[in-house]
Amino acid sequence: MLLKKKKIDKSYWNKCKKCGELIYNDDLIENLSICTSCGAYFRMGAKERIDMLCDSNSFREINRSVKSSDPLEFTDLIPYRERLAKSRQKCGMEESVITGIASIDDIAVAVGAMDFGFMGGSMGYATGEKLVRLIEYATKKKRALVIVSASGGARMQEGALSLIQMARTAAALSRLAEHQIPYISIMTDPTTGGVAASFAMLGDINIAEPAALIGFAGPRVIEDTIGHKLPKEFQRSEFLLEHGFLDAIVGRRELKSKVASILKILLHKK
Ligand SMILES: [Zn+2]
Repeated sequence: MLLKKKKIDKSYWNKCKKCGELIYNDDLIENLSICTSCGAYFRMGAKERIDMLCDSNSFREINRSVKSSDPLEFTDLIPYRERLAKSRQKCGMEESVITGIASIDDIAVAVGAMDFGFMGGSMGYATGEKLVRLIEYATKKKRALVIVSASGGARMQEGALSLIQMARTAAALSRLAEHQIPYISIMTDPTTGGVAASFAMLGDINIAEPAALIGFAGPRVIEDTIGHKLPKEFQRSEFLLEHGFLDAIVGRRELKSKVASILKILLHKK
């Protein structure tokens, strides 16, 4: 009998970009999206991120219905509306960020997590609006704030409406700071552009995952502007920590306990 060659269904498997190992989806999720062979980090979705960081079943989403429309009726290769619809279907979320309330090691928090899978985690009007509402909620309810970033920056399809979200989130955070409520920012791969240049870098404590790309403009643009070659690993977490841009690099397995201990110190809890 001839054996039929079985086709590998790619939707069940992920290939590690670092070592080339094929990893079964469930195994990868079980392992916090860390390569089971070489330890490299895969990108994590917003929901997975919240599950990892918050106490089980403690998360309650707020402002789910806030979503971007198409104010400029923008079309690049395809209409913006179509891009939004595709991302919504692919990620099962309405916008590039999920926000809500939860607890981390029994500490009440307001929490937001971005998803790079949703249009590169880009910050449109609704992304900014959800974050501003989250920050205002934290301010009003005196809840510590934790935001996990994963973003290519502002969403060009919304032009200035997207850029203004940098100022809006920064202003809301300054009001949070006036009330002395702690904000921990967690930057993951990648955190760049207008997100790095606004709320992501404004934490009382700025944490990054290992080897994450973090920066404003891309290295090629900077090299062309300043006319110098940049050092290797420029804009990676380790380089940024060494140069004082970050407070800590924390791996996924230790992230929850580290965030909880920092919050306990900042909130004067035992
Ligand atoms: Zn690997």
